[in-house]
Amino acid sequence: MENILKLPNSKLIDKYNRRLNYLRISITDRCNLQCSYCTNRSLIPKLGHKEILSYEEILRLVRISVSLGISKVRITGGEPLVRKGVYDFLNELTKINGLMDIPITTNGVLLKDNIEMIKAAGIKRINVSLDTLKSQKYKEITGHDMFHQVWEGIELAPKIGFDPVKLNVVVLNGINDDEFLDFARITFSYPFHIRFIEYMPIGTPRMSTGRSLLASEIKNRLSALGKLIPVEKGINDGPAERFKFEGAKGEIGFICPISRHFCNMCNRLRLTASGQLRPCLLSDYQEDLKGPLRKGYSDKQLAEIIIKAVRHKPSRHNLSMNYPAGLSGQMHAIGG
Ligand code: SAM
Repeated sequence: MENILKLPNSKLIDKYNRRLNYLRISITDRCNLQCSYCTNRSLIPKLGHKEILSYEEILRLVRISVSLGISKVRITGGEPLVRKGVYDFLNELTKINGLMDIPITTNGVLLKDNIEMIKAAGIKRINVSLDTLKSQKYKEITGHDMFHQVWEGIELAPKIGFDPVKLNVVVLNGINDDEFLDFARITFSYPFHIRFIEYMPIGTPRMSTGRSLLASEIKNRLSALGKLIPVEKGINDGPAERFKFEGAKGEIGFICPISRHFCNMCNRLRLTASGQLRPCLLSDYQEDLKGPLRKGYSDKQLAEIIIKAVRHKPSRHNLSMNYPAGLSGQMHAIGG
């Protein structure tokens, strides 16, 4: 991957003066887990092969997006590692001039066996979703008995050179709230960045409706382990508030879409597996790119659609714990 120091003049500045430079791409709607809070198990859609963007189509859209000002692309899903040909695709993606950061988000089920290929493709950092450290509970949440396999991949990741390795922990009241201290303790023995993410009440009816936990409460609980020392933010940092315990190898972060929404600094666009461009995770507005791609639109015409989507980015979401988003899309389809 070639870094370019001079950023192109961005054409992706929205009505609220936010510069969008981060594109999250869901390369498949399929997943090898069915997490109860993410996927409605009774309604698992599977897009046909022709309904999802081909890798060539995605790469073309990435090149156009980079020419407009995108410098970071995250590959997600569904579960990105289940899509056939993903390692060759990553290899092509990391060759695109102007992309400076290309992390992937995975559930880690296929990580251990494929970690060398991910590295060889030029990916430098990964996020692994892991909501519990208990194998029985893992099975209950995800529907699959895969905890040990996932954990082996996670342990391997820093040894192979991924840096940082972030563990995404969605805060699920009554399900994993007894494990926050255990997750935080991991940072004393491993260089992992634990990211506690507030649960967003969208897309699934299966989630328990008990009082949801916000980051402030988790922070209070973690103080039992010592003082959380703020970590200075880097320029490419996302919305996480970052902390460290004294003497720890890893970090703790809080992502608070509910209690401290970060819409004013949101720099994201999302491309779904079916080729829809969404300027906000929590709004159903989207622009179709697949149809125009397949009708033979030029790069310039596709760029115009991307710019149009940016102009429609809402100023903020209206989600709160008491006001769930009435979204038609589900997380596994949009990409989280
Ligand atoms: N399969 C990959 C994985 O598990 O990381 C990528 C896709 S998954 C949809 C991306 C992230 O969204 C995961 O970390 C998942 O826990 C998170 N997620 C799903 N539903 C969520 C919700 N309602 N609130 C907050 N995070 C959610």
